[in-house]
Amino acid sequence: MRFITATILWIVTVTQTAGCASSPAQLPPALDGYRLSTREANVCAAAVTTINGLLIPYNGMRLAIADAAAVPTGAVPVYCVRARKPTAGAICFVPVNTRAIVIQVDELPLLHDRLCGGREGRLLVETADLLALSLLHECGHIEREHYVNRQAGLALRPAWNAEDTVQKRREFEADAFAAEVIRSAKDISIFDDPERQKAYVRLSLTIPAITWNLTQTRVIDNFGATALRLPSAFWERGYTHPNIEYRMLLLAYLLDGSPGDPDSVTRFEQLRKEVQLEKPPIDLAIPPTSTDGVNNTRPD
Ligand SMILES: [Zn+2]
Repeated sequence: MRFITATILWIVTVTQTAGCASSPAQLPPALDGYRLSTREANVCAAAVTTINGLLIPYNGMRLAIADAAAVPTGAVPVYCVRARKPTAGAICFVPVNTRAIVIQVDELPLLHDRLCGGREGRLLVETADLLALSLLHECGHIEREHYVNRQAGLALRPAWNAEDTVQKRREFEADAFAAEVIRSAKDISIFDDPERQKAYVRLSLTIPAITWNLTQTRVIDNFGATALRLPSAFWERGYTHPNIEYRMLLLAYLLDGSPGDPDSVTRFEQLRKEVQLEKPPIDLAIPPTSTDGVNNTRPD
């Protein structure tokens, strides 16, 4: 999406009255082309509640839906939007130079169907929990300030590739943050903090379920993809986001918080190495100081 190509520095301003903003949310300039939506409002609210149950006791960060209600001071605004024009967009992203998270509500059912749809053998995942996991990943981008001075470009030139880019590494960093936050609640008692414990249980069940669904899709639904070492089964299209199954396998491994059983990750990495990839169609001379070239922080 091209809106992030804008280099306008948006400074989040919150009019404060007794600790709260007093006016309804307005979309920041980076979101020109979108409009606020109440579609899937209950799902979005449930996901935000889950994440706040983990984040607030972890590092004090909190999310707040930016709608007609006030956004508490210091909270990360969450804009639930619809694109004015159809897009092949992400479920969530952090706009360039904006400390905020955007949920594209029209993408919610599409991604849910792709990752968790009710096909035979798949494990069920609540849409709100899938969204919560995506939100926590975006919180990782905010925590590490990946959104600052981000520049666009590479995502517009997709190809199956194994390139190591700054953008891909940032995705792994955001995933690692998510795993760290979830793990932090592992030993919390339901008697001490029921919201945090509930959030932990929800997400710690969601991650292996999505991982299973993705692996099943590759191994059973796309029978032969593994044997043929198809690039589409193991690598990524574009230069910003690593293969989603690989990311989920790593996330599940990180979540365990112990050496555990890394076999699934190791096996997947070995298969990746055995894939024959064509030479990248473009020169990927990305300097070490290059900023994020993604056009959003899509979770897949
Ligand atoms: Zn991301």
